[in-house]
Amino acid sequence: ACPVGALTEKSHLEKVVDALNNNEKHVIVAMAPSVRTALGEIFKLEMGTDVTGKIYSAMREIGFKKVFDVNFAADITILEEGTELIERIKAGGPFPMFTSCCPGWVRYVENYVPEAIPHLSSAKSPQQIFGAASKSYYPFLENINPEDVFTVSVMPCVAKKFESERPEMENNNIRNIDAVLTTRELGELIKKYGIKFENLNDSEVDPMMGTYTGAGTIFGVTGGVMEAALRSVKDILENNSLENVDYKIVRGFEGLKEATVTIDGNNYNVAVISGGKTISKFFSENMIKNKNYHFVEFMACPGGCINGGGQPYVTPMEKENKDYKNLRGEVLYSQDKNSNLRKSHKNQAVLDMYENFVNKEEHLHHHLFHTTYTNRKNNK
Ligand code: SF4
Repeated sequence: ACPVGALTEKSHLEKVVDALNNNEKHVIVAMAPSVRTALGEIFKLEMGTDVTGKIYSAMREIGFKKVFDVNFAADITILEEGTELIERIKAGGPFPMFTSCCPGWVRYVENYVPEAIPHLSSAKSPQQIFGAASKSYYPFLENINPEDVFTVSVMPCVAKKFESERPEMENNNIRNIDAVLTTRELGELIKKYGIKFENLNDSEVDPMMGTYTGAGTIFGVTGGVMEAALRSVKDILENNSLENVDYKIVRGFEGLKEATVTIDGNNYNVAVISGGKTISKFFSENMIKNKNYHFVEFMACPGGCINGGGQPYVTPMEKENKDYKNLRGEVLYSQDKNSNLRKSHKNQAVLDMYENFVNKEEHLHHHLFHTTYTNRKNNK
């Protein structure tokens, strides 16, 4: 279950199957970083098996027209959120800035602490950025009508369904995302199509909106967004291409991790928070005022999305015998370590999108990739 929103699971499976059976729809799909660390468990593969390539193959067998990756959009999130952080650094605040890619966390702020809304980054989450690009950049590339595109995301999380249904999450009256499947639902869909997942060969992602860096992949584990942001922000502000990109200090599964990072000769205090309990503590101890943080990453699930409410169930016995968060998280860290590119601002597919499409129109990046938040305290 969702740790902060008490959101219930509403299946979008039928919607996806209907769209796949509709010849007029151009149905595309992309999965979140953490899905690839866990889906194999449904098919009895060892916990901690990287099934990225098998998932791409399964998606093609199901009949999706294009198989993309939300990690591509995670790299865009870093560029948009990182730029916002750089603007705040140059302007001397307001601090701290909060990440906004976890809808469970965003909903918590809107419901319980709306006075903290100005601290939230206005960048949309990778899911919604992917959706916005899928209904604008993708139709531009393929020369098709954006209204014919049906975009499916696969997420570790039930709160992502709520996020996709937020009224703000559309551009030019076209919804960013049309259906959200959880990791478990993708497992059901694969079974429904009679695919022997465990026997599939690996295949590659469609690169135009699928290419990603190691920074995009670690979004799925607590501390990953912070680490990805620091890699890019430090490079950009120091006008350098730094070789040491590992920020091990923000890794690990404690609910609160703190670090001080030097960027361009100045020290910045950062924190990484995951889990409902630590989020409540952050506000009950008034850490906005009492700690001198500049940038804070928040994830509602303890450990981040690898432990999301839509992931395969972990039995009490497995919890006792296996360090499942670590096993799932290691898949992402090892993909990152083995990537040729480990910084979001070096993703050539993303840079091509900005150069050939987004930057052609003033403010288009803001229109597509940023959002607003609502005080829901008296109207949850
Ligand atoms: Fe969803 Fe990830 Fe947030 Fe959990 S941490 S609510 S899985 S986005």
